[in-house]
Amino acid sequence: MNSNDLLLFCKGDIISIMLLLRAFSNFSATSRLTTNVSKSEALNKGCYLSGILVCLSYQKSGGLGVKDAEIWNIAIVGKLVHWIYTKADRLWVQWVDHIYLKGSDWSVYDPSPDSNWNWRNIYKTRNRLAAGFVNNCWVADPKDYSVGSGYVWIQGAYPPVSWYAEVWDSWCIPKHAFIAWLVYQEALNTREKLYHLGLCDSESCVLCEAGKETHSHLFGGYPYSNQILGQIEHWLQLKFNQAGRHISQLHHHICRMAKLVCWYSIWMERNKCRLNLQLTIPARIVKDVKRLIHARVNKLIVQPVTSSDQLWFQCLDILM
Ligand SMILES: [Zn+2]
Repeated sequence: MNSNDLLLFCKGDIISIMLLLRAFSNFSATSRLTTNVSKSEALNKGCYLSGILVCLSYQKSGGLGVKDAEIWNIAIVGKLVHWIYTKADRLWVQWVDHIYLKGSDWSVYDPSPDSNWNWRNIYKTRNRLAAGFVNNCWVADPKDYSVGSGYVWIQGAYPPVSWYAEVWDSWCIPKHAFIAWLVYQEALNTREKLYHLGLCDSESCVLCEAGKETHSHLFGGYPYSNQILGQIEHWLQLKFNQAGRHISQLHHHICRMAKLVCWYSIWMERNKCRLNLQLTIPARIVKDVKRLIHARVNKLIVQPVTSSDQLWFQCLDILM
């Protein structure tokens, strides 16, 4: 911990996390103080989001990058286990050997029943990680034991998801990424879902009343969303689905970020419409989306860009 570290706590439900993120983003906008993403960490202690969101550690596997505090603690204690296995040159290891082990083999050692809680905890962690240590060496990572590798080993492997790069692109705005992440997990409270839970009297879409309000309806196949997505693609002269096409890194960033801006705007519009029963015309949403994308690109574009990219960006300016 440093004096400028900031700890934020909230309940583990989605609404509380969203409120916390919103309050923090307001604070950042007002104070101009922001977080260093590479040094930030989210911990999940006994929180429940939903079945699919429980294993949250791996963003590549569809998680939120939130660490399970219990497993993380075991992995940290695993470092001590590792020191004893490898007879690390540390005073603490010598002390442990003198007081507890008394020269016995750590891999088969059993503590006496009256030994203290801390020592028994280290012993329990040794048992938990025992299969990972072969001939006193940590086999899960050729570079030796680290808290990170211990954590991954305990939690197990999960297959990657295809949308990982899209949602967690560095250009995407965090609140947009969070909504897109919920879209891909089909975890937004759509009317279809609320209807089946008995929390809503109809499952039809609030925006068009022409179909069930599902994730695929809202973000894929219905005219209101298609108009917004189509017009933004046309403006950018890019296709959001770039599978199999060779485009520059810059265009990759922009495609991902722009699609998420659209999705976020559609979801916000849906919420607004649900509350006040008024629908904003797509052209108005498109205008706001363009402004946001333009400002974001302007902020993040790094020099020197290629001359064709420069020309393209000037073109967006004219078409805004
Ligand atoms: Zn609809």
